[in-house]
Amino acid sequence: MNVKLLSHTPDAEKLIATAAKLCYSSSDIESLRDGLTEEKIESFLDMLVSIGHESVMEHVSFTFGVEGISRACSHQLVRHRIASYSQKSQRYVNENGFEFITPPAIEEIPEAKAEYDRVIAEITESYEKLANILTEKHTAEFIAQGMDEKTARSKASKMANEDARFILPNACETKIVVTMNVRSLFNFFRHRCCNRAQWEIRAVANEMLRQCMEVAPHIFSHAGPSCVAEGKCPEGKMTCGKINEVKEYFAAMKRNDK
Ligand SMILES: Cc1cc2nc3c(=O)[nH]c(=O)nc-3n(C[C@H](O)[C@H](O)[C@H](O)COP(=O)(O)OP(=O)(O)OC[C@H]3O[C@@H](n4cnc5c(N)ncnc54)[C@H](O)[C@@H]3O)c2cc1C
Repeated sequence: MNVKLLSHTPDAEKLIATAAKLCYSSSDIESLRDGLTEEKIESFLDMLVSIGHESVMEHVSFTFGVEGISRACSHQLVRHRIASYSQKSQRYVNENGFEFITPPAIEEIPEAKAEYDRVIAEITESYEKLANILTEKHTAEFIAQGMDEKTARSKASKMANEDARFILPNACETKIVVTMNVRSLFNFFRHRCCNRAQWEIRAVANEMLRQCMEVAPHIFSHAGPSCVAEGKCPEGKMTCGKINEVKEYFAAMKRNDK
């Protein structure tokens, strides 16, 4: 898995402090940023985060590239609607010999791993067979319509991908670029840094948060799963029961020990 912060709104902390200052002062736009020293920005942000004044956080966005994750994981990611996504297409990109993700629990049991690899190998073979059969069918149709063979074959193979992909597994590797504003990231981290989230998206979320903390420590000082961000677990009977351990993990991340 590779999670990389590609870009973020410049002067992120100052911009949020500026937007928030507008709410609480009579300054005009030109003088709004006057006197916003590092210390003032930091204490202002700490105050905003602690009182939950989250709408001002929407002015700043972070963009990540994520690769080496499963389609199961990317499906969980894209359920977060307040975001923008660009994902590797299984229509335009052929999945012959596709990469796949193996869950650690399967990896560590030889019998489970053998079964997993056997089925993946079977799917890989069937995918290629289906793609070839469909390519031949569509090529013949396009040629019958008067297209030259080279163009027909190229168009047909893309069309073949569309239907052959129906047998691909959730394990299939994918790449995605995601942009979220800070408010949406807070929500994402509350849900997906939680021990109740699945291991793979939790690893993505934790790494995104770690990189956010590096560039904007005051914005993300309270971010994390609900038990960290809000001080209590909303999961009721389904709680992981490890609040102190979780809090220590994110405190260490904040201290840059993780
Ligand atoms: C542990 C776990 C288990 C889950 N299990 C399931 C499951 O079994 N089945 C399943 O379908 N999903 C499941 N989910 C996904 C979950 O229900 C959410 O779809 C996902 O976490 C996205 O969260 P969100 O809607 O808050 O985020 P976003 O879509 O980014 O929305 C952010 C916030 O905007 C507001 N909002 C967005 N759209 C609307 C709207 N249309 N109307 C009103 N308010 C809106 C809400 O306040 C929302 O919290 C699970 C998530 C987790 C973390």
